[in-house]
Amino acid sequence: MLGVVETELFIGGKWVPASSGNRFDVLDPATGEVIASVADGGESDAIAAVDAAAEAGAGWAATAPRVRGEVLRRAWELMTERADELAKMISLENGKALVDAKGEVTYAAEFFRWFAEEAVRGEGTLATAPSGANRILVTRQPVGVCVLVTPWNFPAAMATRKIGPALAAGCTVVLKPASDTPLTALAMAAILAEAGVPSGVVNVLPSRSSGKVVSRMLHDSRVRKLSFTGSTEVGRILLAQAADNVVNTSMELGGNAPFVVFADADLDAAIEGAMIAKMRNGGEACTAANRFYVESSIAADFSQRLASRMAALKVGPGTAEGTQVGPLVNEDTVGKVDELVKGAIEAGAKAETGGRRPEGPGFYYPPTVLTGVAPDSPILREEIFGPVAPIVTFSSEEEAVRLANDTEFGLVAYVYTTDLARGLRVSEAIEAGMVGLNRGLVSDPAAPFGGVKQSGIGREGGHEGLLEYLESKYIAVNW
Ligand code: NAP
Repeated sequence: MLGVVETELFIGGKWVPASSGNRFDVLDPATGEVIASVADGGESDAIAAVDAAAEAGAGWAATAPRVRGEVLRRAWELMTERADELAKMISLENGKALVDAKGEVTYAAEFFRWFAEEAVRGEGTLATAPSGANRILVTRQPVGVCVLVTPWNFPAAMATRKIGPALAAGCTVVLKPASDTPLTALAMAAILAEAGVPSGVVNVLPSRSSGKVVSRMLHDSRVRKLSFTGSTEVGRILLAQAADNVVNTSMELGGNAPFVVFADADLDAAIEGAMIAKMRNGGEACTAANRFYVESSIAADFSQRLASRMAALKVGPGTAEGTQVGPLVNEDTVGKVDELVKGAIEAGAKAETGGRRPEGPGFYYPPTVLTGVAPDSPILREEIFGPVAPIVTFSSEEEAVRLANDTEFGLVAYVYTTDLARGLRVSEAIEAGMVGLNRGLVSDPAAPFGGVKQSGIGREGGHEGLLEYLESKYIAVNW
């Protein structure tokens, strides 16, 4: 069970119950048992949170960038000091192995450190108009009140990746975390308050009626920005709603990452990269390798080696020492993975390891490698979000690129080859916002993270991540 943890809404710097008095349960995915009950924010609470954010807006925007940066840096320090405690909380409510949860805390905290450093890079530009008649002065101003909506798969990092740049830019926020994992978001609120974030600058609103609550906020004219991370399906709904008030949007949506291995690849490196790209977070990552395309001449060797590495992984409760793969987050997720694998096997695929959901409590699915996957299998089109690696063979560079691009998604791709010219050529030809070239991990707070096609709009992290929370103001000047 958890120790002391905040379970009320965080609005205007105070812990408050939902105005309805309603609460909802948070489950341990390893057992399906209740670990906490959290205040269930409704529409009037959402408006109270927007009130608080709007009221705090001018003061925070006027705070010196250096001071905003120092507050964020303090939040990084506090997260780092409490890394073990936070990792345990993430593992308990999300199910991921403690080792993954610790990795997430470090990654999440780094967004605060990175944007602490970015807060003071408030550059603008000054140019002479082509006519010579005047100067073009461009300055940057905070967008204003932001609604941040995050998923359950990285409950800390998806929150800090938005809060960090928003606060650095001088914006105030209402964070609506996923209802499977609200505890980590509430812990973030407590840390930010302790770090010196003034009341109302960050508000956190867990809710079981996410649709109504977010829609209510997007239709409040004080809200000027939506930053959403989640499924493409929900992203489409929110883009339509944001259109009503022409709200600025940043959308980090679903992925369907291809992992392409050419015959000239360093096979040891490709297997290591595959294990990271597939199994980080138990496969529950938008960046997870979803489709493996391996050149025919090395496919048998690659499949066998990957299957033996996957079979050796230790599956168990996320919080247990030595666990490498925890349970999936909930029944729907494990049910979907099971269905996709069954469908692929019925269509002729072979499970080299795994492939069957175990009996018993908890939302477990074993690490699985599938070969002989039919090209039209749903498992190659849909986001698996679990520890399953379907392998398909190819015989030319052109075919590999065509297969990789045969999806409406375009978040990330992985390419393994020792031919640098080919690696760069294929990286350019693949339609994705990010490419891991001989590398199974791309996420880095200092780099622009995001997708093309239906994987999203905008970037998080890097300098681009800060610009998402700033408006350019052009002043035509004569002097
Ligand atoms: P989801 O179902 O789309 O939910 C994401 C968030 O939206 C949650 O807070 C959810 O609240 C809320 N939500 C659900 N329906 C809503 C509605 N009608 N209106 C407003 N908000 C709504 O996604 P998920 O299952 O939590 O996360 C997995 C997805 O996130 C995957 O597709 C993954 O690829 C994507 N993801 C993308 C990135 C990226 O950077 N591109 C990173 C991580 C994850 P409730 O929890 O209350 O439903």
